[in-house]
Amino acid sequence: MQTLNTPPSPASKTYSAVLTQSRHITPPSSPEEVLHLVFRTTDTAFDPDMGSCIRVYAPGQFGNRHHTRLYSIMDLERRGNSVEFAICVKRCSYIDDFNGEKYQGVASNYLCDLRPDDAIEFSGPISYPFVIPDDKTADILLLALGTGIAPFRNLIRQIYEKIGGWKGRVRLFYGAKSPLEMLYMNDENNDLANYFDQPTFKAFQAVSPKPHLDAPVALDQALEQNAAEVWEMLNRENTRVFVAGTENLLETIETAMIELAGTPEHWAAIHAELVASGRWSEVLY
Ligand SMILES: Cc1cc2nc3c(=O)[nH]c(=O)nc-3n(C[C@H](O)[C@H](O)[C@H](O)COP(=O)(O)OP(=O)(O)OC[C@H]3O[C@@H](n4cnc5c(N)ncnc54)[C@H](O)[C@@H]3O)c2cc1C
Repeated sequence: MQTLNTPPSPASKTYSAVLTQSRHITPPSSPEEVLHLVFRTTDTAFDPDMGSCIRVYAPGQFGNRHHTRLYSIMDLERRGNSVEFAICVKRCSYIDDFNGEKYQGVASNYLCDLRPDDAIEFSGPISYPFVIPDDKTADILLLALGTGIAPFRNLIRQIYEKIGGWKGRVRLFYGAKSPLEMLYMNDENNDLANYFDQPTFKAFQAVSPKPHLDAPVALDQALEQNAAEVWEMLNRENTRVFVAGTENLLETIETAMIELAGTPEHWAAIHAELVASGRWSEVLY
């Protein structure tokens, strides 16, 4: 399987898949738009694991043949001679540094505008670094922002539905601009609620205090409100810390962790130890 560091290559085998379902997982009143898309491929050589990524080849611009972007597989089902998989996609836009104008992100808009029976080209699977430890007493701290929830929804489902008997604590700190954008935890789709009665699972939601002003999501405050437990988890030998989302997430986490550790140096030492022992994994985009 390719890893996240493997660059896209013209030699990569590509597959095609047909869209079978497209539905919003953000309510209509939400200013953000996130869709849950289900695809089917009959190319059974495509053999992903739950939580791995695909590289979607959207039509290119400015003379480029393709515009490729990665998406994490959320659901996966093998049926006879076909593979069905789901991804969740946020419709993105960006401000051009040069002229200050707002443009639509190519790949996310291409995917969000697909209609049932439309086909996509993609390659993969590309492995994600979030591996559930064999030790069922391990604590797992999940820190996610926005669509970063995609790999963790999977992971939580596997822990409680496939593995079972998990004794360690699983703590999800999940940030979004507003309660409407809490993916899989809002009125439109509340999948994660299925695990709220698991004694070892807790989820903490953090939203932006002023979403209309683009103020940062208060994930640091949620971590600080649970400081004692988070700190204890960070200092246990078998704790894993998994981080997923857009790049600004890291700064928020660092602010909170420095607060918990007391000094930047103390946090840097703990972080270095977690990374060196393979217990800290992050995917930022
Ligand atoms: C390993 C990995 C896994 C990913 N998994 C997912 C996923 O499951 N779902 C998903 O929607 N995206 C995911 N992404 C992001 C995705 O690959 C694209 O970057 C995103 O869809 C925007 O692509 P674009 O071509 O539309 O716009 P681009 O021109 O690439 O980006 C437009 C703007 O949107 C910002 N942006 C990119 N992704 C997001 C996001 N998810 N949320 C908020 N802002 C964003 C960019 O920083 C940029 O400012 C993942 C990225 C990586 C590296």
